[in-house]
Amino acid sequence: MKKQTLYDNHGRPISYLRLAVTDRCNLRCFYCMPEEGIRYLPKKELLTFEEIERLVRILAQNGVSKIRLTGGEPFVRTDLMQLIRKIVSIEGVEHVHLTTNGILTAPYIHELKQLGIASVNLSLDTLDRERFKTITRRDEFENTWNTLQQLMAQDIPVKINAVVMEDKNIDDIIPMIELTRTHNVSVRFIEEMPFNGEGNHYTRLVWTYKKILEWIRSHYPDLQKTEDEPHATAYHYQVPGYRGTVGVIAAYSRTFCGSCNRIRVTAQGVLKTCLYDDGVLNIKELMRAGLSDEALEAKLLRAFASRPRDGFEAEAHRRSKFVMESMSTIGG
Ligand code: SAM
Ligand code: SF4
Repeated sequence: MKKQTLYDNHGRPISYLRLAVTDRCNLRCFYCMPEEGIRYLPKKELLTFEEIERLVRILAQNGVSKIRLTGGEPFVRTDLMQLIRKIVSIEGVEHVHLTTNGILTAPYIHELKQLGIASVNLSLDTLDRERFKTITRRDEFENTWNTLQQLMAQDIPVKINAVVMEDKNIDDIIPMIELTRTHNVSVRFIEEMPFNGEGNHYTRLVWTYKKILEWIRSHYPDLQKTEDEPHATAYHYQVPGYRGTVGVIAAYSRTFCGSCNRIRVTAQGVLKTCLYDDGVLNIKELMRAGLSDEALEAKLLRAFASRPRDGFEAEAHRRSKFVMESMSTIGG
């Protein structure tokens, strides 16, 4: 039976788990990974499907009803669909979402629809094949584009995630918004965070959410604010008369922490109660040490009861101040 919603020490509900099923990826996005020299986790360091199921079951019994599978690229993990089938059937799990780069996704869209997947976030930073190649260091634009078309054809809600980067995809902002003219998609522009596996790219972030929004408004002066869902990280807008919506995500400015309902489990099986902390509980080690469900649940609840107030507090408490993490292990 589903327990009541859990609240953290700041009165925020804990209802959403983002779980990285692998750190491996078939792209090398500039903002996420270095081009070369990546050392992937040995496979035995990833949570097994049985461990993931066990964790999701314990969390679902405690009111976590929304699960997002991410990575690395989730479809690089062998038999991902097997895991999705299991997760959708866990009692208490109400919404299962995916974040993917779309390269290997298309063959599974029909089954995802049948399984009732709630939405897919598709990473696409540009509509230009050459720029796609420069940003991701792979020539795979067609596959991602094809996945986008098929998701829309199957009526699966799609959110396009585009990280905004100086000198890389600023010219794409308006063409991407134009996708929302005729398509019922949400195009979200994200501030670049320093989780690229090689340290900070900039001394100061240029494309803040404010600047992104100013840029958009300068092209669409009548841009309208629309209502944001509870706990949303994106501020949503719409160009009057367009079908889709435009979102701006202040991922680095961290303006949304006050309503954050998310926890993360990294590819290494480590719990993060804030994107900016450096891990608060090694779930994989605890499971492999033979901890019972009850003991694990108690440790999870203790971690939820001492969440940092916001991403700045979490960052200040990191053991290492030099961020070398890649988003491919955190999951975004
Ligand atoms: N491979 C999948 C994909 O790209 O959609 C899932 C994992 S990826 C790490 C999840 C999300 O994190 C993507 O939407 C990506 O754009 C975003 N992301 C990765 N690195 C980022 C960074 N440094 N700053 C902001 N967003 C980032
Ligand atoms: Fe891979 Fe996603 Fe990271 Fe790009 S953002 S390198 S697709 S994990």
